[in-house]
Amino acid sequence: MEARYVAAAQIGAWLSMGIVNIVVTWLALPMPGIDVRLLLHLYDVGQLLAVGVAAAFMVLLWRRFGPVRAFVGYAMLTLLSVAVSQLVLRDDLRGAPSIFGLSSWELWASILAAVVSLCIPVAAWVSRRLSRSNLRWIVVAIAVAIAIGHQFVLPNLYLGIHTYGTWFAATLLAGSIAEPLKPWVDAMSERSRVARVAAIVAGAVVVAVLFVPAPVAVQTQIGMLPGAVVARYKPARRFDVAVSIPQDKSEWFEDRGTHADITPSASRLVPSDAIVILFVVDAMRADMLSSEYAEQLPRMTALARKGVTFTHAYSTAPSTKASVAALFAGRYAGQIKWTRKKLRKKSLLWPDDPSPRIGDLLAKRDVESVVITGRLDHLRPQNGVTAGQRIELRLPANSSRRVVATWLQWLASHRRGGVFAYLHVFDAHSPYTPVGTRGSAHERYTGEIAEVDRSLGTLLDGLRALELEDRVIIVLTADHGEAFGEHNSLRHGGTVYEEQVRVPLVIAGKNVKSRVIDQPVTLLDLAPTVLDLFGAPTPGSFMGQSLVPLLAGEDLKLTRPIFLETRFEYAGMVFDDGVKLVVRGGMPELYDLRIDPGELVNTYDSRADAAERFGAFKSLVAAHRMKFQTD
Ligand SMILES: [Zn+2]
Repeated sequence: MEARYVAAAQIGAWLSMGIVNIVVTWLALPMPGIDVRLLLHLYDVGQLLAVGVAAAFMVLLWRRFGPVRAFVGYAMLTLLSVAVSQLVLRDDLRGAPSIFGLSSWELWASILAAVVSLCIPVAAWVSRRLSRSNLRWIVVAIAVAIAIGHQFVLPNLYLGIHTYGTWFAATLLAGSIAEPLKPWVDAMSERSRVARVAAIVAGAVVVAVLFVPAPVAVQTQIGMLPGAVVARYKPARRFDVAVSIPQDKSEWFEDRGTHADITPSASRLVPSDAIVILFVVDAMRADMLSSEYAEQLPRMTALARKGVTFTHAYSTAPSTKASVAALFAGRYAGQIKWTRKKLRKKSLLWPDDPSPRIGDLLAKRDVESVVITGRLDHLRPQNGVTAGQRIELRLPANSSRRVVATWLQWLASHRRGGVFAYLHVFDAHSPYTPVGTRGSAHERYTGEIAEVDRSLGTLLDGLRALELEDRVIIVLTADHGEAFGEHNSLRHGGTVYEEQVRVPLVIAGKNVKSRVIDQPVTLLDLAPTVLDLFGAPTPGSFMGQSLVPLLAGEDLKLTRPIFLETRFEYAGMVFDDGVKLVVRGGMPELYDLRIDPGELVNTYDSRADAAERFGAFKSLVAAHRMKFQTD
């Protein structure tokens, strides 16, 4: 086939990826305003067109100067694909070798990426072979299905895999449409004026989108589109930052390794033989405590009314291991040391840091610490996540009913002395099936939380029956939230938007004053709070602040910053005034949660204090050398 047909097919295929992206954008992305949306399409289609034009040039040059034999062409394409895979695909596949128990993930991930990248030459070869038969339309259908489909699977993660999904679809499509495009290409060649004008317009668009930076709001949206394979790799533009940390906060923006212990508060809410129960509902969103679900969750609602409800509580990370490890260490996951350990044939990262944990500090005061662990190894003290907890009660699974029963049984025979217990219940974790398979994912999820609500009732009844109520403080919270399509994401683990990191937080007990607090807090405040409840000082290196004065009804302005971390490209910060900074791959997004709780409009370009907020984030990361890596 003549080179110009093959070249035209490349342009047509990559332009088609642009059209696919327009469809996916309207189906899946939040609507930021029509101007932002139209600019997004212009940038995305223009950039994909640029790839098509580059591919077309390569085809033309190869046909003109390269060897004639076809297999040399395939060999070159293979080399290109393998080389690109080492840059963009290798990191995405780093988890795979450990699933098979292979250590030295770097080598295996490289090999795996190279093997996966063979899909590109294979797609080229197959589509060329079938291009003259009617089977080519099946290939076209498969290409379109892949181009759309991959964008809905883990859309916020695995950038490299999405890149290959798009490249694979474009290659299949290019091979299949070269033949049907022939008459069009011929018609265009005859009408050279039309062709010239089209080329000039396309050239101008390509140059504009490659060299004029898009507004930040447009970049934010393109970043959410998995098929936008050029924009997502373009380095973020340079942002000027200003550093002006207020005096009362400066101590948190420096290394705290040498800071003195913080003395406990004057208020004593519980006797020294207190029973502090940290009840963590895996993946429970903060909005489950809103009035909308009050009827389905009567015990949680009653507990919230009785105690202190924090309306803006944040987990440090959207994943269990990172969030719980940080909670027990009193420091961010990015500050503690993680080591790779082989466990059940899987080689994964676990906290391995000598710094003191809640349990260690309480043991000095003869306070017992308990953790109930299940089939998953995540929570076991010996694996570092809940290190410091002295007593481990093992169960086959962490369903709330069994956890509560086990805990009450233990408590009945250990009625004396102070104790800090960690109850983590997994009912609400996906796939939301224990209570049934009917209804939407969100309905089943709510059903699971309702099951936890019943277990909470059992727990409260049990404490009453044991006549221990007066000694008890209950902390009801979650390790992270859960997404149901917001920001193009499902479940948790990827982003730091509200649905994944804002969690319920209720603290209740006999002397705890009933109130609602809107001041943002972090789960890192819980370690100092638990220590404070037992009258123990908090190590100066901890990154949270005790909430005990607030529980006692006093006013307290918390000064420590609230940081959000993931092991992917997202991090963030929540400010006292309800403004939130999300940083994705080095690019800042700024939302005012009071007027935009859904985080839809990135106001970074329009806010005067934007550079200052980004500056605070960068200073915090630098001061604590935040570097987050777990599996
Ligand atoms: Zn979790």
